[in-house]
Amino acid sequence: MRPLRRGTNLSRVAGFNEAVVIDAIRRARDGLSRVEVSEQTGLSAQTVSNIVRRMLESGLLREGDRVTQGLGKPRTPLTLHPRGRYAMGVHLDPLQTTIVLVNLRGDVVAHVQLPSPAQAEPDDIIADIAVEIPRIISDAGVAPELIAGVGLASPGPIDTCTGTVLEPPHLPRWRNVPVVEKLAARIDLPVVLDKDVIAACIGERWTGATLGQANSLFLYLSTGIGVGIAVDDAITRGATDNAGDIGHLIVDASGPSCPCGQRGCLGVTLSPGALVERAIAARLLTGTHLDAVRSADPARVDESFMALCALVEAGDPAALALVDASAVQLARAISTLANVFDTDVVAVGGPTWMRLREVYLPRLPSLVHAGLVGRPQHKPVEVVGTALGDDVIAIGAACLVLDREFAPAVSAIALER
Ligand SMILES: [Zn+2]
Repeated sequence: MRPLRRGTNLSRVAGFNEAVVIDAIRRARDGLSRVEVSEQTGLSAQTVSNIVRRMLESGLLREGDRVTQGLGKPRTPLTLHPRGRYAMGVHLDPLQTTIVLVNLRGDVVAHVQLPSPAQAEPDDIIADIAVEIPRIISDAGVAPELIAGVGLASPGPIDTCTGTVLEPPHLPRWRNVPVVEKLAARIDLPVVLDKDVIAACIGERWTGATLGQANSLFLYLSTGIGVGIAVDDAITRGATDNAGDIGHLIVDASGPSCPCGQRGCLGVTLSPGALVERAIAARLLTGTHLDAVRSADPARVDESFMALCALVEAGDPAALALVDASAVQLARAISTLANVFDTDVVAVGGPTWMRLREVYLPRLPSLVHAGLVGRPQHKPVEVVGTALGDDVIAIGAACLVLDREFAPAVSAIALER
C-alpha cells in the first residue's frame, strides 16, 4: 500500500494533523496504536500523543484494551468512536427516497425509505425529508448536537455552488430545484449536495469495499449509469462537479441506437429497460412488458426488470445467456475506465448490480483483464461488489458529511493559516 499522506509537526496546521490522524486510524480496521499512528503519518510521538488526548476527550476516538502479541511490546489500539459523531444521508432517486443515519464509522444506525412517485412535486418530497430527519434522530436516541450534517446525493447534473439539482434526465420533475436552500430552511442542520456516484465513491472509501485504496472507481448500475472516481486519494469532481457521466460510452458497436446519435451506448445497452427489451425480443418476456418500457415510468420498468431477474434466478438458460452477454458489455466499460484512470479496484453497485451480481461477479475479472492495456500484467484490476448494499448512495451521502469534516483536505491547511 502507498504511504498515507504525511502530516507536518507545525502547530498552525493542527486541524490538518488531526484529520491525518483520524484518516490513518479509520483506514486500519483493527485500529492503530499511538506508535503506529506516528510511524504512518510522520507526526512526532509528542504531536500524536497531544492530538490523541484531545480526541479521546472529545469522544471522537476510543482506546481498546492493551494487547500483547508475541514478544513485542503491548499495544493499545485506538479506533474511531462510533458514537463520537453521526451524519444523515439522503438519496434522491426516481423510485424512492432513502434516508440513513450513520455513525462515525459509517455503520447504518437507522434507515427509512419514502416512496417518490414520478408525479410527486420536489417541494413535497423535500417537506417529507424535513419531517423524517428529526424523527429518525430522535427515534435513534442520538443527541442532535452529535449530528454533523445532512448529505444529499442526486443524479446529475447538479450545481454544488448553489446546491441546486439542475435537470437530471431520470428525475423529470426536478428542474433547477435549490434543494440545499429549501431543506436547510426547514431543518436546523448544515446540508451539502453532491452527485450520486461521487457520494457512493466516498462511501465505499470511508467504510466499504475500497477502504484504504488510493485509486478506486465506483460504478453505479441503475436507470442511469455513472462512475465515481478517486485518483491518488482525491475524489475527482471536475470543473462543474459533475464528473462521471459514462452513459454514452460505446460498449456495443451494433447495439441499440441512442438519442445521442450513436449506437450501443452504455446507458441504452445496460439499463433495466434495455435488458427488458432484449428479453422481449428473445421471447423471454411477453410483449406486454414493452408498454412498461415505453412508459418510462421507473416503477413499471422496475417491475418488468424484476420479471427478467426472476427468470435468471430460476436458472432459465436463455435468460442467463442474455445476462451473460451483457456482462461482456459491462466488462468493456470497466476495462475502458480502468485504462483511463489506471485504477486498482472497481466497486460496482446499484439496483441492476444487486439483482444480477451472482451472474456478473464471477464473469467480470477475466473479461475486464482481457480489456486492459498499458498496465503491468502482474497488477490486475480488482472488480468487487459494493460492500454497502442497496443503500450505497444514501450511506455515501452521509459519508460525504463525515469526509468534509474529517478527511485531510489540502484546503484545510490554507484555511487555518
Ligand atoms: Zn448515447
